Parts: sequence; structure tokens; C-alpha cells
Amino acid sequence: MFCTRRLMLVLSALLILAGGTSFVLAWLSLSGSFSLTRWYFDLTFALVTLLCVVWIGFAWRSRRTTIGRIRQQLHQFEQADRIGMIMVDMDEDLTELVAEINQYLTNIEFRFEKERCEQRELLMQADVAETERHQVEAVIFSISEAVIVTNRYDELLMANQAAQDLYDFRLDLHNLSPIEQVVDDPDLLKMIKLVRQDKSRALVRLFQRTHPLSGQKLDLKVTASCVFDGQRRDIGAIMVAHDMTAESDLARLKDDFVSCVSHELKTPLSSIRGYAEMIAEGEADSPELYRKYCLIIQEQAERLNRLIDDVLNLSRLESGGVDLQLEPFDLAGAIRDVTAVLRPQAQAKSIELDIQVQSDDLTLLADRDMIYQALLNLVGNALKYSPAQQKVTIRAWQDDDAQIAIEITDQGPGIPRESLDRIFEKFYRVPENNSVAGGTGLGLYLVREIIENLHQGRIDVRSQIGLGSTFTITLPLCQPSQLLVSQN
Ligand code: ADP
Repeated sequence: MFCTRRLMLVLSALLILAGGTSFVLAWLSLSGSFSLTRWYFDLTFALVTLLCVVWIGFAWRSRRTTIGRIRQQLHQFEQADRIGMIMVDMDEDLTELVAEINQYLTNIEFRFEKERCEQRELLMQADVAETERHQVEAVIFSISEAVIVTNRYDELLMANQAAQDLYDFRLDLHNLSPIEQVVDDPDLLKMIKLVRQDKSRALVRLFQRTHPLSGQKLDLKVTASCVFDGQRRDIGAIMVAHDMTAESDLARLKDDFVSCVSHELKTPLSSIRGYAEMIAEGEADSPELYRKYCLIIQEQAERLNRLIDDVLNLSRLESGGVDLQLEPFDLAGAIRDVTAVLRPQAQAKSIELDIQVQSDDLTLLADRDMIYQALLNLVGNALKYSPAQQKVTIRAWQDDDAQIAIEITDQGPGIPRESLDRIFEKFYRVPENNSVAGGTGLGLYLVREIIENLHQGRIDVRSQIGLGSTFTITLPLCQPSQLLVSQN
């Protein structure tokens, strides 16, 4: 290999020498100054031809070898999937061409490396963007408000489960669909258009919408905002729908409560004032009349007292300021006390109060005043909502599970099925029974708080329209060990 190029040079020199000598001798012979024999010409011709053949052979072999090596190296680059330099010996043929090719390959390699760096950077940016997208998705999916995000072409980009339920669509089926084909709410679509047009930060509107799954009428507070990128170009919009139904209901109930309480306060107050004025003006001219007016005043004052108690109890329970006095007490005695207080009310409507207490040995470990208050509310309601000349039954017994059950049954108007779940809510009053008797909608709320939250018991209700209602309280029976501890 080492000699190939030099050998070629030597061969070329010999060829030139032989060719040149033959030419000079031939010329001298032709000019007559020298005479050559025929064999000499033949010999020279054969020598030159031989040298030519050897030269061509060597040149051909050398080029083939170099091309073979170049091909082999290219093949290796291809297998290793990389660009490298082609190596040939300095004295080999084609070295200039190889140098040119290497220069070209170096340029390509440089460009490839630059592109590889750019690609790596892009991949990293894509990774970061993907992670950020996952984080944003996690935040959006974790909030309870309905959230919809659109892109710059007003196509759906993201929506959490609450939004999919509220507007009845599926994100996986409608991703990147035009938002007007996904959401069937013209008000919301108008908002999106507005914020995109005005590039406004936040637009707030109140809408009503029927939930497609539950059929419930919802009060929605929708906030729509334009989304901007780092260069303050708008790249879409985001809508957040907050369900205000509970707040609106509570506000409505509170309004009802205020008007109800004012009414409830006004009625006994005006009656107290009226009868007190009559007494003061001497209109009670007989002792019977005087006594009658006094009794009315007393009764109305008690009604006022009950109302104020309800409101005070409510605020005590709400503020957590209840100091529970747990003590063993006899349930039969508490029931007797309740019926004694309510007997005049029962008599006024000729309602029979039927008390069926299993034994006088039903001992509860509870706050007596609280349980008394709960029973008073339940039996009071039974009397209040029952028509005249009916029966209210109060039963108490020990059931199998070391629990005491107390049942108050009336033959009143009953409670509609759709109101049964709601009667224990604060301020809730059954619309159908409003005309039967007044109230604040607090009594049953207080009963549930006392029984379930303060005493870990249960309150249930069964009712049939026109036939009456049964409220059942279950409370744990006081165990002998608890009795001893409390006595010590
Ligand atoms: P209120 O002060 O209005 O009586 P409650 O919380 O005690 O408030 O009761 C809530 C609602 O439940 C009442 O407004 C009434 O419509 C209904 N209700 C309660 N008890 C009875 C009952 N025994 N019979 C019929 N309806 C009842």
C-alpha cells in the first residue's frame, strides 16, 4: 500500500524515459544520423506497451483498493448510524477527493449536531409543557365548580367532570370540537364571544339551568375570562360555573324565616297587647272574663317564649356553645313532663294524647333538657298539624339492640314524599302544610341536631298523605356500668 503511489511514479518515469528514448532514437534513425535494426523497434515497442499495461494495472488496482476502503468505511458509518471522517493513506489515490468529501461530511455533521441540540431542547420544552398541562388538568379536575377552557379557535380544550355533567358532553368525544357544537347554552356561548371580542379579564353573569342528569333547577354564577399568553396575545377563554342553588335556597329560606319569625312574634304580641289593654281599660268586668284574658296572655307569652327558645337554641347549637349535661334519667318521667305542658293544647283541639311507655325503667344517659326539648318539638308538631278530635300516640320501648325507641304518631295531614328529606333542614317548611299552622322551620332541625349530633342517636320519619306521620327517635340505653360511673 505504502509503495503504490511511489511505484506509480517510478513506472510513469520509466514509461516516459522508455517512450522518450524510443522517440529520440527513432527520430535520429529517420534523420539518417543513426541506424536502428527492426528488432530494436520491436523491443522498444514491447517495453513501452508492457510498461503501459503495468501502469494501467497498478492505477486500476490502487483506485479499486481506495474505493473499496471508502465504501467499507461508509458502510460502517451506516451501521453505526453516525457520520465520521473517511480515512485513506496520504499516498493513496483519490486523497483530494476524499478530503473534499470529508469537508462536506464535517459540514453535514455540524448541521446534524445543531439540529440534534435543537430537537433535544424542543423535547425538553415539550416535556415541561406536558407536565404543566397535567398539573393544570389536575387542578381543574379537582375543583367542584364546572370549568371549561377553549383555545384561540374557540374549540374545546379542557373541561372537568362537573362541566361535562352540567352541559352533558364528553371531553374525550368532543376534544377540539367547536365549542358551539359541544355546549347547548346560548348564554354561555354569548359570554365566550364577548370576552374574546373585548379581551376582557372577567365577565360575571347569573343564569338558571336545569341539570341534565338530576333535572334539578340550578342557579349558576358563571365567570368567563380571556386567557392571554406571555406576549399578552389572547389564546382562548376559560369559564367557571359556580352552583349557587344552595346559597340562593338558604337566602330564600332566611327571608322566609325572617318574615315568618316577625309574623310569629307579631301574632302573640298583638294578642297580648290587645288583652292587656282590655284589662287596663276595665273591660274584664267579671272575674271569669278577667281570668280568661289572663290565661290568653299567659298562653301567648308561652308561645313567644317557645319561639325565642327555638331561636336561642339554634344560635347556641350553631356557635358550638352547648354545654351537654349528660346524666341518667327516666324517659317515662320526661315524656310525662312534655305531655303535661302540651295537654292544654291537646284539649283545645280535643286531641287524645295516648301514652304507651313499655316500663318505668327506661333510663337514658343524656342531657335531660335537650331530650325534653326534642320531645316537646315533636309532640308539639303532632298536635299543631293534626286536625281536631284526632289522636296523638307517644310510644317508648327498649328494642333488641340495647337501644331505646320513642315514636310519636299523629293522624294529621302527612308530609309529601319530596319534602321528607328536607323537613330536617334549617328553615324548611312544607308548603302544603303552611296553611295548617304557623312556624319557623327550626323545630325539626333542632331535634335532629340534639338527637343525631349531640347524642349520636337517630331520627326517622314515615308519613302518608292524609293519614298522618310517625317520627321515631332511637337512642342508646344507659348501661349499668355507665350508671355507676355517673353516680360516682
Ligand atoms: P315549624 O316551626 O314550621 O313547625 P319544624 O321544623 O318543626 O318547623 O317542621 C318543619 C315542617 O315539617 C313544618 O313546617 C311542617 O310543614 C312539617 N311537619 C313537621 N311535623 C309535622 C307533622 N307532625 N305533620 C305534618 N307536617 C309536619
